[in-house]
Amino acid sequence: MRAIRYDHPFDHYVADVPDPDPAPGEVLIAVRATGVCGTDVHLHGGEFGPVYPLTPGHEVVGEVMALGDGVTRLTTGQTVAVDNMVPCGSCDNCQRAQPAYCRVLRAFGVTAPGGFAQFMVTPADRCHPVDDLDLDTAVLAEPLSCAIHGLDVLGPQSGSDVLLLGAGPTGLILTQVLRSGGAGRLTVSAPTAFKLDLARGYGADETVRTRLTPDPASVSPLRALAPDGYDVVIDATGSVDAMGHGVGLLRNGGTMLVYGMAGEKQQLPISPYDVFRRELTITGSFARSYGFDRAVRMLRTGRVRAEGFVTHRFGLGDYGRAIDTVAHDSSCLKAVIEP
Ligand SMILES: [Zn+2]
Ligand SMILES: [Zn+2]
Repeated sequence: MRAIRYDHPFDHYVADVPDPDPAPGEVLIAVRATGVCGTDVHLHGGEFGPVYPLTPGHEVVGEVMALGDGVTRLTTGQTVAVDNMVPCGSCDNCQRAQPAYCRVLRAFGVTAPGGFAQFMVTPADRCHPVDDLDLDTAVLAEPLSCAIHGLDVLGPQSGSDVLLLGAGPTGLILTQVLRSGGAGRLTVSAPTAFKLDLARGYGADETVRTRLTPDPASVSPLRALAPDGYDVVIDATGSVDAMGHGVGLLRNGGTMLVYGMAGEKQQLPISPYDVFRRELTITGSFARSYGFDRAVRMLRTGRVRAEGFVTHRFGLGDYGRAIDTVAHDSSCLKAVIEP
């Protein structure tokens, strides 16, 4: 089969590799669509703990082609969304209900072969049947499950005044989850007009266009909307400039959720006095714990919709262009690889 391979950061090619065989308890999947996300851009540059040789791709939807011994809960021909994280279930972190910190976590597309390939194998219990969903919807199951984890971490009070920085795919998924998750008012800010239009369509009450690198002038409309600050600010950009402004826009006692992925070496200057004096909370949300079935449910009921998300489609041979597009092209919302 053909698969994207990296032996080093930045250096990818389409490799011809043997078709994988499902072990007992596993299934063979023919990949139909795999989302390309910001994490893949970080992996491209060698960040986020890749294990080489690497076949990335962690937002996978595919068709079950073959069952390993002992698999009874799936049948061939089913379309499934794949939960790419396989925690061991028995290490100390797993036993503390923190599977994302599993000591021996296998993560397809990061530490094990992922979905930028024609086929992949995965444990059957990581597969969620989605025959009733179209591919563009089903491919949001993985990022949506991460957004659900973000809300689990945040536990916002009903009626909270929420500011969401960023209207990329993550921001637009969070917009919809926050809308049905009890935000009393949701303000979304981002630099790209069409993404803000989508945010409004998905339930944002206010949208504010900011510069790519927010400056005091572009932040002042956000301040005007909430002169005393927001109960919750969520950064879905990964930009430390945006996060810095976000902390300043918190209400006393407010909470900042760091959701976007910054570079591993970047630093955020924060005033400890401000955190102390105003009782601020700064928290993070990494990957997910137990939210995948809830993600599929929200897609099934239409609580989270996918219209307008997939703007770019690529084959395996165009992988480099796909990464470049996700990293640099503001007309791209969601790109998928269709191997
Ligand atoms: Zn992703
Ligand atoms: Zn574990």
